[in-house]
Amino acid sequence: MDIFDLPKTSVPIAGTDDRFPVRRIYCIGRNYEKHVAEMGYDVKRSKPFYFAKPADAVVQSGSIVDYPSRTNNLHHEIELVVAIGKAGRDIPAESALDHVYGYAVGIDLTRRDLQRTAKEKARPWETAKGFDHSAPISAIHRAEDIGHPSDGRIWLAVNGVVRQEAGINELIWTVAESVAELSTLFEVAPGDLLYTGTPAGVGPLVPGDEVTGGIEGIDAIRIALR
Ligand code: MN
Repeated sequence: MDIFDLPKTSVPIAGTDDRFPVRRIYCIGRNYEKHVAEMGYDVKRSKPFYFAKPADAVVQSGSIVDYPSRTNNLHHEIELVVAIGKAGRDIPAESALDHVYGYAVGIDLTRRDLQRTAKEKARPWETAKGFDHSAPISAIHRAEDIGHPSDGRIWLAVNGVVRQEAGINELIWTVAESVAELSTLFEVAPGDLLYTGTPAGVGPLVPGDEVTGGIEGIDAIRIALR
């Protein structure tokens, strides 16, 4: 393939023939209280923070994902994903939803063992969070079609057994607050995705696992680990 002809990463947009071109992938850490607690942090003293994955880490729902190299503890994190459709910086929370194009269901795949080492040694998280195929995602559903969901059930099951279950109304920082805060650190732009953090119940995956999940009012997601 000609290097000038490489495909651009994109995600299907439900109800259209268009695809959402992915510019950047941002993620929030520690945005559900019970997950903050299960990771061993103090809820009251914690604030969400941001990390990133490369755009081409996106994996379409329905795909088979190879178990990544260099880990013995690959974890699932089901998350509400926000797709940005309008650029801005220092956006007030009151108008932040005007910058949201739509929503999807994502899985923030994590090499938990490498993340633990990175935390212990105060090293960056790229190898733990930003590896190849680490960002499975459903189709994007336009806010003009589904509104701005704020209270649906979010869940993830492994081989049919539910492991994560919560309501997106349990987000510590709302979508509007998360986009507003992000825009004080980076200019957000069309094509940006924001994985908004995972509820409690994260755990390991092994080759052969079938992972399903969803968010009420948005969509479902399914991947298989090979
Ligand atoms: Mn996460």
